[in-house]
Amino acid sequence: MSTRKKLIAGNWKMNKTAADAVTLAQELVAAVGRQPAVDVVVCPPFTALESVARTLDGSLIKLGAQNMHAEPSGAFTGEVSAPMLRALFVTHVILGHSERRQLFGETDPAVNLKTLAALKHQLRPIVCVGETLAEREAASTLKVVQAQVERGLEGVGKDHAANLVIAYEPVWAIGTGKVATSEQAQEVHAFIRGLLGKLFTDPVAQRIRILYGGSMKPANAPELLAQKDIDGGLIGGASLEARSFLDLLAAAAAS
Ligand code: PEP
Repeated sequence: MSTRKKLIAGNWKMNKTAADAVTLAQELVAAVGRQPAVDVVVCPPFTALESVARTLDGSLIKLGAQNMHAEPSGAFTGEVSAPMLRALFVTHVILGHSERRQLFGETDPAVNLKTLAALKHQLRPIVCVGETLAEREAASTLKVVQAQVERGLEGVGKDHAANLVIAYEPVWAIGTGKVATSEQAQEVHAFIRGLLGKLFTDPVAQRIRILYGGSMKPANAPELLAQKDIDGGLIGGASLEARSFLDLLAAAAAS
């Protein structure tokens, strides 16, 4: 039985004005603000971070961002840095999401720089990895995931590694309604934990949470979350509405 506490993180993507985000955060705080069975993170858009931070104040729900720049400051128009996020009480940051990789050209070396910067500034990176449908069909899933993990985490010290969160998100399952079977997901999660063991030692790998992401919903969550190496979920669509997100938290608490 794993000692890793389950973590459910909601990725709100480019949805919700600051006012709408506060409404959802209020509903979540009212229902789970003091429920310690599962770690909960919500990741609103940048424009809602400050107001959601105020709403979450005093609850156990943590605040995450969806991206950041690796540099602390400078001439990077349109970007947001780790110290800026820290100043808004952000504790987690999603890095290398497949939408950033596919739509904004984010590469493994860029994810690596951001990961190192996040850790340096005491933010917990949620580093996303995962194969496309073509890569799965070509039987290269493990090879692709291995390269993303190794390149994305290059230079992370053993002492900081337990602060990492990895999200395995098969690209073909994100926002498509197609979910990986629990066997497919567990196979990749176990593989990632093995890699983390080689990079950081087994005891450290046992402490790192590996989330599944890709059309996770209350109906399919119990089976996924029952897998030995699935330590929670990174949730897109089902995090945009309080009822489904709360049901996912309940599923994680029961697993
Ligand atoms: C995501 O974008 O991280 C995600 C998992 O989305 P969805 O749950 O909508 O598939």
